[in-house]
Amino acid sequence: MSQSNHAPSVIIHNIGQLVTVDPERMSSENPLGIIEQGAIRLEDGRIAWLGKTRDLPSGDYPDHQIIDAAGQLLMPGLIDSHTHTIFAGDRANEFEMRLQGKTYQEIAKAGGGILKTVRETRQASRESLKALTLQRLQRMKAFGVTTVEVKSGYGLDFESEMKCLEVLRDVKLDSPVDIIPTYMGGHDIPPEYQGRTDDYVDLLCREQIPAVAQQNLAVFCDVFCEQGYFDVAQSRKILETAHEHGLKLKIHAEEFCDLGGAALAGELRAISADHLLNISDDGIAALKKGGAVATLLPGTAFYLRIKEYAPALKLIAAGVPVALATDFNPGSCVIDNLQLIMALACLQMNMPPVEVIKAVTLHAAMALDLQHDRGSLSVGKRADLAMFDVAGYNELLYRVGSNLLTDVFVAGQRCGRTEISAQVLVS
Ligand SMILES: [Zn+2]
Repeated sequence: MSQSNHAPSVIIHNIGQLVTVDPERMSSENPLGIIEQGAIRLEDGRIAWLGKTRDLPSGDYPDHQIIDAAGQLLMPGLIDSHTHTIFAGDRANEFEMRLQGKTYQEIAKAGGGILKTVRETRQASRESLKALTLQRLQRMKAFGVTTVEVKSGYGLDFESEMKCLEVLRDVKLDSPVDIIPTYMGGHDIPPEYQGRTDDYVDLLCREQIPAVAQQNLAVFCDVFCEQGYFDVAQSRKILETAHEHGLKLKIHAEEFCDLGGAALAGELRAISADHLLNISDDGIAALKKGGAVATLLPGTAFYLRIKEYAPALKLIAAGVPVALATDFNPGSCVIDNLQLIMALACLQMNMPPVEVIKAVTLHAAMALDLQHDRGSLSVGKRADLAMFDVAGYNELLYRVGSNLLTDVFVAGQRCGRTEISAQVLVS
């Protein structure tokens, strides 16, 4: 489905709001570049024309599928630019333990936590990992998502990290959405390296990063720069090595404390810095100077019941592009619904709807360095589209908890409203 060449030609007309998020059309009066009563023509998986329905060049369009949107809203397919979608097993029992007040340390002691997922992912067959990942992507698409970034990082040894990235390469061929793979060997310290983080970092830089880059298994390298995980010097070493090998950079920064990851992101010109709950003013200035996107993940704060969210409005006021993503993972945020994240951004971070729409389209594309290809609607861009049964984009946010998606196009292929198949999975 990700191939664009065999997509049929399509005309969608009678669109109530055609939300382009095209910087060329955006202005203070029309901040999302909306075309009212719009129409769009798709050819070979790309956008061939767009404008008002009444301006659609007349003709027969004999080879085109003609779709009447009946006044619905059409916008760029949503982009989830930060997920940990490839893993085995689940940690459902920990949810109840957390409600009972158990700490993360107590849960880890009882055999839970991230290392449980690492154990299960290491043991999982390629077939079961592939099936699980495809099913999760299918579910994301059902909310209007057409591009998903997926991080490795539950293998944490050479064989298992490579296994996950190779499975992702396979998944991409069959996937209902496009996948952007990220290598994240620096997600946690594996059990066999406890207390020897420097040795583990050396291993990543010596063996894993060169192999991942050489086999073209990832576009990005990410690292968990956090107290108790990888400090700034260790994160720097991982990211600089990744950069030398041609990988683009992302960083998990300032989630639990202000360690200085944002400054590092700015200095190394990372494409994005993510989480940022405790970012300082200097950190914000560094992101602005380095041109990084701030990717905020309010689902994680919500799921972990953290009271203070990332300072979204401060970042926006400073001129840093803000993206929103799910952070879908089996421990700290099991939310695969990007629409729910959009609602949380409004309700918990006071982000205006206009900023929220940009954060899951144009800015999310920027967080993947794909803004020239997708994330907005203009001639030549990938025909990734989401249609919603709402009169305006405000309603999309106002109707919290309802999935109002009616149709989705991935590289010009019409998928309809996805039905999630109940696959029987073999593990
Ligand atoms: Zn994450």
